[in-house]
Amino acid sequence: MPLRLGAFVHRRIIAPGALAAASVLLAIPASAASYSPGAPGIGDPYYPAYGNGGYDVSHYDLRLKYQPATDELEGTATLLARTTQDLSRFDLDFLLEVSEVRVNGAKASFTTSGEHELEITPKSPLPKGTSVTVVVRYSGVPSSKQAYGFTSWHRTPDGGVGANEPESAWWWFPSNDHPLDKATYDVSVLVPDGSQAISNGTLQSTSSRLGWTRWNWRSDKPQATYLATLAVGKFDITTGTTESGIPVINAYSKDLGANDGAARASIERTGEVADWLSEYFGPYPYNALGGYVPDTTTGYALETQTRPYYSPRQFANGSNVSVVVHELAHQWYGDLVSVSGWKDIWINEGFARYAQWLWSEHEDEGTAQELADYVYDSHPADDPFWTVKPGDPGPENQFDIAVYDRGALAIQALRNEIGDDAFFAVLKGWPQKYAYGNASVADFQKYAEDVSGQSLSALFDTWLFQPTKPAAPAARAASIAKASAAPQQPKSWKKIAATNEVHAH
Ligand SMILES: [Zn+2]
Repeated sequence: MPLRLGAFVHRRIIAPGALAAASVLLAIPASAASYSPGAPGIGDPYYPAYGNGGYDVSHYDLRLKYQPATDELEGTATLLARTTQDLSRFDLDFLLEVSEVRVNGAKASFTTSGEHELEITPKSPLPKGTSVTVVVRYSGVPSSKQAYGFTSWHRTPDGGVGANEPESAWWWFPSNDHPLDKATYDVSVLVPDGSQAISNGTLQSTSSRLGWTRWNWRSDKPQATYLATLAVGKFDITTGTTESGIPVINAYSKDLGANDGAARASIERTGEVADWLSEYFGPYPYNALGGYVPDTTTGYALETQTRPYYSPRQFANGSNVSVVVHELAHQWYGDLVSVSGWKDIWINEGFARYAQWLWSEHEDEGTAQELADYVYDSHPADDPFWTVKPGDPGPENQFDIAVYDRGALAIQALRNEIGDDAFFAVLKGWPQKYAYGNASVADFQKYAEDVSGQSLSALFDTWLFQPTKPAAPAARAASIAKASAAPQQPKSWKKIAATNEVHAH
């Protein structure tokens, strides 16, 4: 009975009519047996412990303070969630030290388990279908934490950065860490004057007091946890507006050295590229745009929502607009429509790579067809490249080059099969069809079949799901590498290949 009483008190606050409902509940013998712990994972076979069961988060409010000199982060995370089962306890994914957890205002007990689980037992169990507010107070040094032997927190000479896929949240905020649970974000970060804090979305305000400046960022459309980012360092910030009216905020580390010019010459074209992509993918889905380059030693870029992360090294050989095209293409393919499970990664990477091929065509450096022909021809049948199935590559090959290149080749095969009219209708219609949600490779096949009026099972099986090189007849049928002579390497090939270290740990 005391357990039910707790639920009753909370309900009374949120719903005036709940008094009668609560009385009915009180009349029923409280069955503790119906309350069970939420699962420690959301159910993704690639990453069984990622995300959690039993609830769905709608909003993260992160109020943080970060000291660049020592990498000390302290914060209060307030999560607004809704239960999806009767919960006796539930997990968040997190690595830093927690000092207090409150659930619906009452102190909750908590402990840690596994590689990154924070197990929370609320004072009163939580009935299915009710709103829950979780407050977590925490602190720690993110760079001192590892899970599974790696870190996604990049310590820099001037601060730190959280950006990685499929996980980066554990190092800076507690979450339900899986793309299936998207939410909106307010990220407020206090940093010493002279340092800047960069995150997703719009910069609502900054304010300074006693040597510290608070940066208030808002990402007001559903965002997957791995697409949330935080960077503190010494940045030069540029602002602008796209022709279509979207505000642009870019940030460049002040220590990019010889890469500085090439980074800016690429990323300052963000607005132009986003407008160009919207001709293929439909209207840009967010109210903010940009990119940032911290002083990191990584080699990859990441499609952090509205404001991609770029590594300085990607500009070591000069400007590379192709990498900007790739990360901005993800704003539709990956961010607006997110994977249902990590096995669906082709929908992100195949299409971001294909956008680079379209850009190559736009720049007159090789058509998508020429790039597809070159991929097909340059990997002999015994190349392990063909053993990776882009449609279900396995966690160990999630970011294998085949997911990108064979993945984009499959898209060209689809284009040739259904024709340009249907193909470009699919390309533009898909982001709208599943906007702000999640979808699978099977959903994509069905959508392409609906739009084209053709059965595409054989095509998808051959190009995405067989661990072998599609044979010459299949290639001819899909108009791939039809010419008798070996295709030349397209002019854009090296620039595109320079973006290949896109997400590896
Ligand atoms: Zn990508």
